[in-house]
Amino acid sequence: MSECSHDCSTCSANCSSRKQTKEDFLVKPHKKSNIKKVIGVVSGKGGVGKSLVTSLLASNMKKAGYNVGILDADITGPSIPKIFGVSGSVYATKEGAYPKKSEGGVDIMSINLLLEDDTKPVVWRGPVIAGAVGQFWTDIIWEDVDYMFVDMPPGTGDVPLTVFQTIPVDGIVIVTSPQELVSMIVEKAVNMAEMMNINVLGLVENMSYIECPNCHEKISVFGESHVDEVAKKYGLEVLANIPIDPEIAKKCDEGKIEQLDKQYVDKAVEKLKNL
Ligand code: ADP
Repeated sequence: MSECSHDCSTCSANCSSRKQTKEDFLVKPHKKSNIKKVIGVVSGKGGVGKSLVTSLLASNMKKAGYNVGILDADITGPSIPKIFGVSGSVYATKEGAYPKKSEGGVDIMSINLLLEDDTKPVVWRGPVIAGAVGQFWTDIIWEDVDYMFVDMPPGTGDVPLTVFQTIPVDGIVIVTSPQELVSMIVEKAVNMAEMMNINVLGLVENMSYIECPNCHEKISVFGESHVDEVAKKYGLEVLANIPIDPEIAKKCDEGKIEQLDKQYVDKAVEKLKNL
C-alpha cells in the first residue's frame, strides 16, 4: 500500500499514516495547575550563567507583580534552590506535590528538593532524567503561575529535546558568554529552536565585561563580544549584557539573589511582559 500524500494538518481522516505533529508529544500539566506562559532558558553549554539568568528573570518578573514559577529542568546540575536559598522537601499530597516558595514568593521545583542529600550526584540516564522533568510538569501543582521559567539542561542533546517536546514553551531565551568559540554553540541552540519551531525571544550575554569600581571603565575580560553579530545574523534581539559582578556571585552563594538590586535584565523583563 502506498503512503498517504495528503497534508495531515488540513485532512480530517483518522488514518494510520497520519504524521505526528509537535502537539502530539505535548503533555498536559497537573489538572489543578494554572500556568499561563512558559519561558525556556537555554544555553549551548554549561557554566555560562544560565541558572543565574533564569533566577534574575524570575525574581524581576516577581518584583514586577507577576506570579512566577521556576521548573529546574537541569537535573544533573540543579542550582536554582541554592541561588534562592530554598531547601528541604516539597509538600506532597495524594493528588500531587506543591513547589517550594522562595522568600520573595517565587514557586520552585527542583530535583534537589526531593533528594535526601543534595550533595549526592544524580547519576541517571537521559530518559530517566527527561521523565523526572516531565513529572515536575505533570505531578506538581503549580497553582497560579503567570510566568513559568524552565531552567533547561545545557546543550542540544536528548534531554533538552525531550523537554521541548513535552512542555509547551511560549519562547526561549538563549544565554551566552563572550568566550564561546565564535558563538558557534549559540548558533547551534538557535538552529535547534528553529528546527523545533520554537520562538526565540532573544539572547542574553552573561559575563560581558567587568566595570572598574574606580574609573568605571568597562573591560572586556574575554575579548570582543560576538553577540551582536550572531543576533543580527538570526534577526534576534540582545535582551541583556550582564557584567561579571562580584555582588552577583555573593548573592548566589548566600542564596539571596532576590535581594540583588540591579537593572541588568530590565529590557528582557519588558519583552516578557508584552509576550
Ligand atoms: P550555568 O547554569 O550556566 O551552569 P550558573 O548560572 O549556575 O551557570 O552560574 C554559576 C555561578 O557563576 C553562579 O552561581 C554565580 O556564582 C556565578 N556567576 C554567573 N554569572 C555571574 C556574573 N555575571 N557575575 C558574577 N558571578 C556570576
